[in-house]
Amino acid sequence: MTTKEEKIVDQLNRPLRDLRISVTDQCNFRCSYCMPKEIFGDDYSFLPLGELLSFSEIETLTRSFVKLGVQKIRLTGGEPLVRKNVHELVERLTHIKGIEDIALTTNGVFLPKYAKQLKGAGLQRVNVSLDAIDNDIFKGMNGRSVGVKPVLKGIEAAQEAGLLVKMNMVVQKGKNDSQILPMARYFKEKGITLRFIEFMDVGTTNGWNFDQVVSKKAIHDLINSEMPLEPIDAEYFGEVAKRYRYVGTDVEIGFISSVTESFCSSCTRARISADGKLYTCLFATAGHDLKSLIRSGATESDIDEALKLVWQARRDRYSDERTEETAKKRKKIEMSYIGG
Ligand code: SAM
Ligand code: SF4
Ligand code: SF4
Repeated sequence: MTTKEEKIVDQLNRPLRDLRISVTDQCNFRCSYCMPKEIFGDDYSFLPLGELLSFSEIETLTRSFVKLGVQKIRLTGGEPLVRKNVHELVERLTHIKGIEDIALTTNGVFLPKYAKQLKGAGLQRVNVSLDAIDNDIFKGMNGRSVGVKPVLKGIEAAQEAGLLVKMNMVVQKGKNDSQILPMARYFKEKGITLRFIEFMDVGTTNGWNFDQVVSKKAIHDLINSEMPLEPIDAEYFGEVAKRYRYVGTDVEIGFISSVTESFCSSCTRARISADGKLYTCLFATAGHDLKSLIRSGATESDIDEALKLVWQARRDRYSDERTEETAKKRKKIEMSYIGG
């Protein structure tokens, strides 16, 4: 049987440390860079319930992933909180020995309803996505005309429940780059870490091109000119965000520079889609069907072995090799399905 001491690494010598689990491909928002409403309309076929991994199946798979080295779990989607009883999944996962951190990424709207339950089940942290502090800009971006207030209420509810909150903002030129400074000022004042994410060419539906990307450097320099920043060391190998602090404060800010300063050489992340496919890269074109494996009666050691083989064969480094050409031609999986 596989043990953690075996130190599983892939073909580029990267260990397996993080597992992102998508619990649903559905969402209450239609952010144009993720699920454009023209494509994800009323007639769009989402996964039927029976195709989703059950919580017990997710738990079984997670146990095997932990044996291979996974220490951090992130629940995501789609919008993870549109799936019923996610707190029950959190509770199951907190009992797995070896997991050091469980977090959830959400658009925040359902946090007033579920934050306490999630915290009670053992969740430690939430990352809340918000792309503008200006109501009209945000309404335009989420495709459902939802204002900023429900998200701010979600943040408050999470903090009141004792969850640590970090914010994510995807920056898209011409759409919300005017919001970089207002967002930085707002969350600095609140003492909440805000992370800026470069707009990525995930999937094939968001019309991505390089011209719409605002680089980490440009965002950094803009903020730094008004509110000086100093870098902070990464906390662990494979940390995605480059971290900074506002000088003279404890308030942090981060940058996820997947396009202009890629970080594939330290990418320790695996992803499971809501229907149980394992992806070894956000930009993968195909996954490995774990649901069929588990539903065909595989034993724990069969699963351990299958995961080990996939990880050991991994060579993905899409962002290191990205060109305008690969971004357009490659048939990639949608972010809402693979799990952001
Ligand atoms: N619905 C949840 C949310 O929005 O937080 C979780 C899933 S969402 C796919 C996870 C993260 O991916 C969000 O922070 C979202 O802004 C980010 N994201 C989605 N599409 C993106 C893109 N094309 N480029 C960069 N980040 C993206
Ligand atoms: Fe939904 Fe999150 Fe995608 Fe926006 S980024 S459409 S909230 S899954
Ligand atoms: Fe990891 Fe793939 Fe992103 Fe590179 S492109 S950092 S391998 S998910």
